[in-house]
Amino acid sequence: MSFDYDLFVIGGGSGGVRAARVAAGENGAKVALAEEDRYGGTCVIRGCVPKKLMVFASEFSGMVGDAQAFGWDIRAGAFDWNIFHDKLVAELDRLESVYRNILKNNGVESFDQRARVVDPHTVELADGTRKTAKHILIATGGRPVVPEFPGSDLAITSNEIFHLEKLPESILIVGGGYIASEFAGIMNGLGVKTTQFYRGTQILRGFDEEARGLICDEMRNNGIDVRLETNVVEMAKDGDKVRVKATDGSEDRFDVVMYATGRAPNADDLGLESLGVARGRKGEIIVDAYSQTGVPSIYAIGDVTDRVNLTPVAIREGMAFVETVFKGNPTPVDHELIPTAIFTQPEMGTVGLSEEEAAAQEPIEVYATSFKPMQKSFAGGSQRVLMKLIVSQATRKVLGCHIVAPGAGEMIQMAGIAVKMGATKEDFDRTVAVHPVMAEELVTMRQPVRTA
Ligand code: NDP
Repeated sequence: MSFDYDLFVIGGGSGGVRAARVAAGENGAKVALAEEDRYGGTCVIRGCVPKKLMVFASEFSGMVGDAQAFGWDIRAGAFDWNIFHDKLVAELDRLESVYRNILKNNGVESFDQRARVVDPHTVELADGTRKTAKHILIATGGRPVVPEFPGSDLAITSNEIFHLEKLPESILIVGGGYIASEFAGIMNGLGVKTTQFYRGTQILRGFDEEARGLICDEMRNNGIDVRLETNVVEMAKDGDKVRVKATDGSEDRFDVVMYATGRAPNADDLGLESLGVARGRKGEIIVDAYSQTGVPSIYAIGDVTDRVNLTPVAIREGMAFVETVFKGNPTPVDHELIPTAIFTQPEMGTVGLSEEEAAAQEPIEVYATSFKPMQKSFAGGSQRVLMKLIVSQATRKVLGCHIVAPGAGEMIQMAGIAVKMGATKEDFDRTVAVHPVMAEELVTMRQPVRTA
């Protein structure tokens, strides 16, 4: 049977574009891709990239005091949201065209419209055109979700935060995950009076307890009003503000309320149900280790499968899909020991097991040190950093590495290689320290602070 294409990809984000490019460019497959929104997807258009640019923008406010302490005669001026936003929009436009060109230059035909699957080898575009393909790859990503409660329609999400008309004077951020905690730091750094509500006992659930405790303390020291065990009861419009009643009995008015309470996979209305493609509890597409659904010609990668929702993971899944389907080399995706960074202020870099997870698994030694980094200490600041290794007593392997420090994301990429290779504590120890840097503590910690 002949098809219009070897591969039809639905979704032009990190995972979909990578799979399309490699299948077409390196493997000579005939590939098409449909995208209903902007090319680049969540990461490039409304996630990692604009977020990191906002982190950069927000960090300058803290540098002025440090520079003065180092002898510079400079004063903090005002942050101009419009200048930043115009540049941000231009940068996102540039990146979107880079993504479009990647597809074009690799011979991928793209359709700027929504697509759905009508049978195991047929895709229907929004304009009614039907295209057939030997394989269909769904890479439609996810979207923020706001729970329903009185006034919930007044909340914005991370989709809108990048394009506010003006910088608010005050903001409430609801949630305690990556997105909420990162934006609390960003808004605070930009000079917005920032409050964060989290319903649990400590933000960043799932990460190392000591690390998230330090992050929360430092966020509070930076001026963020982090209110734990607090949630919104109801919200109402109050002039040009939003009045928020909270579970702690408080009632406050904010210019903007942003919800970052989780994301849902974009798997609805894709025609999957009638084909028997299984969906999970959150609506995610169920796939095997090769990203294959129960319908052999249909695969899915990235956030729509809700495995590990990170851009580099979606890219890996896309590469493994091409290796499996177009190179005849079945390649499962390795989801073990993924290093990751959380761009809170201070930043966290982490790989492997938290102390709590490791202790539940086997006897461990914990090596940790918390100190004032040289630059901050010289400037008279009180900020602390954390370097922490979790070591297996039986194998001596480093099971987890957790860094809370400026530049922790850069550091963990390197430490992640060692941990992924199965380095032992003694391998770390016989590595000579780089001096004077914060990360040298990772190879100079001699005595465990505790065993568990
Ligand atoms: P998360 O799932 O990480 O966090 C959701 C947060 O909202 C949790 O604190 C959760 O609380 C809370 N929450 C959930 N439901 C409610 C509710 N009904 N009312 C109040 N609070 C609620 O989602 P995010 O949106 O922060 O991030 C989504 C994903 O995006 C992440 O898992 C991550 O994979 C990815 N991401 C990665 C980044 C990075 O690598 N730096 C940056 C941004 C996103 P509880 O803990 O109690 O469940």
